[in-house]
Formats: sequence, structure tokens, C-alpha cells
Amino acid sequence: MPVTVGIDLGTTNSVVAYIDSNGNPQVLTNEEGFRTTPSVVSFSGQEILVGLSAVDNENENPAETIRSVKRNMGKNFTYVLNNKEYSPEQISSFILSKLKKDAETFIGDTIDSAVITVPAYFNNDQRKATKVAAELAGLRVSRIINEPTAASLAYGLDKNLNQTILVYDLGGGTFDVTVLKIAEGMDFHVLSTSGDTELGGDDFDKCLVDLIVEKHGINQSNDPRLRNAAEKAKKELSFKTETNVSIPYYEFVDGKPINLKVTINREEFQDKIQSLIDKTKKCVDQALFDAGLKFHDIDEVVFVGGSTRVPYISESVKAWTNKNPNKSINPDEAVAIGAAIQANILSGNSDKVIFLVDVTPLSLGIETQGGLMNVMIKRNSSIPAEVTETFTTAFDNQEKVDVSIYQGERPQAVFNHLLGKITLDGIKKASRGVPKIEVTFEIDSNGILSVMAKDEDSGISKYLTLEGSSSLTSDQIQKLIQEAENNKNDDKLFLEISNIKSQLTDRIIQIEELLRTDVLPRHIVEDLTDMKKSLQESSESNNIEMLTGLLESTNDDIKEYSQIVYKKAKEHVTQKL
Ligand code: AMP
Repeated sequence: MPVTVGIDLGTTNSVVAYIDSNGNPQVLTNEEGFRTTPSVVSFSGQEILVGLSAVDNENENPAETIRSVKRNMGKNFTYVLNNKEYSPEQISSFILSKLKKDAETFIGDTIDSAVITVPAYFNNDQRKATKVAAELAGLRVSRIINEPTAASLAYGLDKNLNQTILVYDLGGGTFDVTVLKIAEGMDFHVLSTSGDTELGGDDFDKCLVDLIVEKHGINQSNDPRLRNAAEKAKKELSFKTETNVSIPYYEFVDGKPINLKVTINREEFQDKIQSLIDKTKKCVDQALFDAGLKFHDIDEVVFVGGSTRVPYISESVKAWTNKNPNKSINPDEAVAIGAAIQANILSGNSDKVIFLVDVTPLSLGIETQGGLMNVMIKRNSSIPAEVTETFTTAFDNQEKVDVSIYQGERPQAVFNHLLGKITLDGIKKASRGVPKIEVTFEIDSNGILSVMAKDEDSGISKYLTLEGSSSLTSDQIQKLIQEAENNKNDDKLFLEISNIKSQLTDRIIQIEELLRTDVLPRHIVEDLTDMKKSLQESSESNNIEMLTGLLESTNDDIKEYSQIVYKKAKEHVTQKL
């Protein structure tokens, strides 16, 4: 019978797990006999090497070797290898194919489907790209779940826990922080999530490369031997206070071989990575703020990801939270095990019941009149989610509307990230405000968004096709959140002005409707015409006091004139009867 597995498709290493016939999670061993497979692809002639053999080939063939492809997922990026072009999805699919093949050898059965994990902070395009990579590798994706959420399943399942935990997940290339509530060990409710998809152990390695270059004064800094030596030194500094980096015949200067030899101590390393650790603290603060919690509300800070082995991370987290980090789960394997638990439940093979509620990391909405961002799904909302709202046209006889979809936190749509646009053409001609355009946002359990716009009257509808190039990097995501924070006051003013202007437009429409009735005496028609003129003339102004005064000054008259029209209409009806 085909088997389902959980795959942690990591930036540096990947892990596969499944639930055995006794209901226990097992981490699979690959062809080389290891429980983790380097997420590295290398070309040797026509042969595509993956994992350890790719790492071995790297020294000879660095230009044809790819590491950290995960960082380019969902981006408009092309690798050129062996004179051929490859997308990040294709490179990732080579890794997934090996994971699938090795898992099939280990289990002795076909693997047909998988739950694949992604950083919680992956955007729509990065999730879609991961799904495509799996499909290219012949795997049906039964669900994409967030890495920290998967780790929390491995941490909390079957333990009858009632806790609020913060998962601090620092891997090779990404950082995620997630705040979750676990109830009775079966209800996993994510409260908030934050992170950086371009921050991890790879960056620590780069810091060490810089340090070695500074200390030794070498010219060559992009030799893979240096990167590998830096990673080795980093790992040694996790259990030693000092380490030696030594690469014989590192380079030749004036025909003479130069041996690279440097000693690095823990303090030097810590100084170099301080700004990266500070970055993780910002994400932690953001996630706590979004969850409406403080450090003292957190029962456990659960560590996940290979980079949490750096002792300075433990020390820093302890200093912020006043708590010893919880290291009870294997930082390399917990994510894959959590994914396997979820895969098993989805396949119907398990009698376990879990409720898993995850969230979306950024608000999603559309641009409405006046450039406003109309939020359809708020950041940190539970997923899956479906929201439908009805909109209308801004002009008479409008046959076409543009629905522009944005991701971000600013009330002014243009300051957010444009995800895509739907143009709905063929709307039945009508006065403005009459057509009903239904817009539906749907985020599925994988965190992938689809949008539909439909004209209720004509039945015409369109789905959104998101362009691959619209990916947001984590820096952009952080920037959008930071900009929203920095521009709070300006945005508040913009919202106030927009609100008043929208009332002004409504008032003009109201006046036009009254004028259309043709039942009002001449002096009222003249008064209304003047009123409309002064409202129209003021509509470009941003003077809140003046606009508010204008609206208030017309209030009573409009009410009185509306009542006259209402009375006349009633008389008319009575006459007819
Ligand atoms: P992951 O993506 O969770 O597999 O984490 C991989 C990252 O963890 C890589 O950057 C590794 O260099 C790093 N790592 C693994 N073991 C250690 C260690 N003992 N000390 C420091 N970093 C480590």
C-alpha cells in the first residue's frame, strides 16, 4: 500500500519521517546511511548529484553546485548549469526526488504523497513553488504546513499539555517564530507568527568567512573550502571556546603556496553574529505583540533548527525571556516528525484527533475608491479562511472594474505589495452604486491564496492568477510592517481624510438622487444645486475641519428635503391606490 511521509525540505538539510505500523514516528535513513540529507545539488557531466555526493563534488565543481535553493523559491530566478537553464522549483525537485527514492528503498513501498513543511513566513509564491517542486518529483502534496507548527506537533502531541509556547526555529537559511496555544495535547492554535526567510546558519557561516578573511588577509573569499571550514569551525565553537581553521595550499601568491591558518574564539564569533541575533529578537517581539502576550505569559520557549545549538543563542534567549529554552525535541528532526504526524492523520490511517489552526503572516486586501486598502483577511487570521465582500462601481455605466490585490499593513493600498490584478469586463450598464461585485478571498490550508471577482447581475466571474515575479522577500515583508509602524500618524490622517471624502461623495450622490425625483419646489432645487457645487469644489481639499464643517452644514437641509420627497412619494402611492 502506498505510504505517506512528512518532509522537512530545509535550506541546508532535509529530513523525511513517517509513522510506522505501530503508530510511532520514524526518521528515515537515506542511501548513504544518514538521517539528514544535505539540500545540495551538483552536476557532474550529465549526472545530477544530490545530497552528500553533491557536497563531495562541490570542491571540484563549485560553479555547478547549488546550495540553499530554498532561498530562491518563488522568485523569478534562473540557474544556468551545464549550459541549461533551471528554475528553483526544478532544482528543489531533484532534492525531493532523491528523498522520495531513498524513502521508498527504506520502507520498501511506494511513496505517493507527502506533507511538506515551509517556513511560516513563506509567502504565497514561495508556497506555490514548493508545491510545484513536489509535483515535479512525482509527489502529491497532501498539505503544506508551517515548520514551527509541525515542530509543535512533535513537541506537544500525546502529552496532554495545556501550554502557551513560543517556537524559536533557527535553521540553515530561515528563522521563524510562532506563538501557539496547546490545549489537552490535541488542540494546536497558532496565535501569531513572524520571521525572516533570509536569516539562518548560512549567515553565521558568512560572518565567520568574513572574520577569517579579516584575520588572515587572504584574497580569495568565495572558495567552497573556506565556507565548509567556516561551518565546521562554527559547529566546533558550540562545544569549544576556541577553534583552529586550517586549509593547506589555500591560494598561491607569486607562485608560492599559502596555507590558511587562523584561530577563532567564541567571543569573536559572538560579536560578529550579534546583529543577526538582534534581528531574531525583533521578530520574537513582533510575534508576542501580535499575540497580545508578554514574555511572562509564555510557558516554554521551544528550540527547533540546527542553529539553536549555538550556545550564544540559548544565552540570549534566556536573557530576554528569563527562561531556559526547552530543548526536549530533536532540533533537526522535530519538523519532519510533525509533518509525518499530520500526513498520517490526513491519510486516514490514524485514529488520533488533532485540531490544527494556523495563521496567515500578512494582511490581504483590495484597493477601493480613494486608494484605500480594504483588508479582506487580516494578518495573523486563522487559516483556512474564506471571506466574501460586495463592492460596487464608482461611475455611471461602468462596464469594467479592476480588482487590485495587495499584501501589507498600510491603509493606502499603493504602499503595500501588489500581488495581482483581476479585470472584470462586461458588467451590465447601470448607475454607479447599483452593480454588485462580489470579491472572494480564499486561503487554503496550505496558506495559498486565490481570489474570485463576480458580477452578481451578469454572472461574469474571474479568478486571480498570481504572477511568480510578485514574490516578497522576508526583508520586504519586514519593511512593509516597519513602514506601517513608522507611518502610523500619516496613515491615520489619510484614513480620516478618506473617510470624510467618502461621506462627501455619498452626500453628492444623495443630492443627485433628490434632484432626480423632480418633485421638489424650485427654490429647493436651486439650494441643492448650489450645495452640490460647493461640495464638488471642495472635494480636492484635504482640510479636515473645512470638510467636516461643510458636511455638518448640509445635514439638516438634506434631512428636511428627503422628508419632503418621502411625503410626496407617499401621496403618489395613495393616489394610485
Ligand atoms: P537545519 O536547517 O535545521 O538543518 O539547520 C542547519 C543549520 O544548523 C546549518 O547552518 C548548520 O551549520 C547548523 N548547525 C548544525 N549543528 C550545529 C552546531 N552544533 N552548532 C552550530 N550550528 C549548527
